[in-house]
Amino acid sequence: MTAKIPVSVLGATGTVGQKFVRLLADHPWFEVAAVAASSASAGKPYGDIVRWREQSALPDRIAALIVQPSAPPLPGPIVFSALDAEVAGPIEQAFAAAGAYVVTNTRTHRMDADVPLLIPEANLDHLALVDRQHEGRGWPGAILANPNCSTAALVLALAPLHRAFGLEKIFVSTMQAVSGAGYPGVPSLDILGNVVPYIGGEEEKMERESRKILGTLAAGGVTPADFAISAHTNRVATIDGHLMTVSAGFRTRVTPEAAMAALREFRASPRVECLPSTPTLPVEVETRPDRPQPRLDLERGRGMAVTVGRVRACPILDLRLVLLGHNTIRGAAGQAVQIAELLVAEGRVSRPA
Ligand code: NAP
Repeated sequence: MTAKIPVSVLGATGTVGQKFVRLLADHPWFEVAAVAASSASAGKPYGDIVRWREQSALPDRIAALIVQPSAPPLPGPIVFSALDAEVAGPIEQAFAAAGAYVVTNTRTHRMDADVPLLIPEANLDHLALVDRQHEGRGWPGAILANPNCSTAALVLALAPLHRAFGLEKIFVSTMQAVSGAGYPGVPSLDILGNVVPYIGGEEEKMERESRKILGTLAAGGVTPADFAISAHTNRVATIDGHLMTVSAGFRTRVTPEAAMAALREFRASPRVECLPSTPTLPVEVETRPDRPQPRLDLERGRGMAVTVGRVRACPILDLRLVLLGHNTIRGAAGQAVQIAELLVAEGRVSRPA
C-alpha cells in the first residue's frame, strides 16, 4: 500500500477544525500528522483539550497528538487552515513562505488577485493562479482558498446554469445554520425560537466571492463574472446546513425543464471526478415539492453535493429555486480536502515513495 501524505490542521480545536480531523481520519491519501491551535491549547494532548462535537469517535492516535503552536514548521506539504480569521493572515503567509500549500477556510486571502478561490467542479482553471504566487511572492508554497460556506453552495448550484444560459441577475435569501458561526457561536437565547436577519459580512462575501469564482482568468488575476447579485442572509435555529431561496435572470431564454436538465447533466471534469471527495452528482435535483430540507437532504454526496428543488418560473426574474448545502463540509472542510486532493492529482504535491 502506498504511504499516506502527512498533513497538518491549524485551528484543529474549532468547529471546522474538528470536521477536518473527522474527514481526514480515514482519508485514503492523507494522514493527520499534526494539530495546531492557539497558545492556550498548545502543549496539551488534543484529546484532552478539544470539546469533540463530531458524531464519530475521535481516533486514539489523533487524540494523543500534542497540540502544536500555529507556526511553521509543521509536518507535511499540505496545511489545512481553520483558524479564526482575525489571526489567520500572517500565520498562513508564514506557512506558504516556508514551502507549504495552505488550503484555507478563512476569508483573509480569498479575494487576493493571485489566490485561487476554488470549487473544483466550477473553476478548475483558476488553480493556475498558484504559479503566480510562486513567481510573484517568491513562495515555494502557496495559499489556496475555499469559498465562504453560503457562497460555496450557491455557486456550485448555479455554475451549470451560468454555463448553459449566462447569469445576469441573482437575488438570494439564506436560512443559515448555527454551526456556521463556529463554537460557541450564537447564544441559545438569541436563536432558539427566533431568526436573526443579520450575519456580519456575509452578504458582501456572497456578492464578491461568487463573481470571482465564476469569473475569467486574466493577466491581472480573475475578471469577475458580469452579473448583479443581491444577497439577504439570515441565521436560523438549524444545526447544520444552509438553505437558500434564489431567483435568477439569464442572458438566454431558460425554462424550468431546461434548467433542471442542465443541473442533472452537470458533472465534474475528469480531472476532478477522480478525486476521492468529489460526489458523482455535484448537484442533485429534487422534484418533491417540499424538498430539500436540512434534516433530510444534508448528507447527500457525503455532504459534498448540493440539492436543488422547486425549480420553477419566476414572474420577476426568469427562474426561482431552493438549494441546500452542507456548510461545514461543502462549505468548509470537505471543500478544502477536495482542493488538497486536486493538488496531489495534478502533481503539485507528490506522494511519498
Ligand atoms: P471556531 O470554532 O471559533 O475555531 C477557531 C479556531 O481558531 C480554534 O481552533 C482556535 O483555537 C483557533 N484560534 C483562535 N485564536 C487563535 C490564535 N491567536 N492563534 C492560533 N489559533 C487560534 O471557528 P470555526 O467556525 O471553526 O471557523 C474557522 C474558520 O473557518 C473561520 O475563519 C471561519 O470564518 C471559517 N469558516 C467557518 C465555517 C463554518 O461553517 N463554521 C464555514 C466556512 C468558513 P483555540 O481552541 O486554541 O482557541
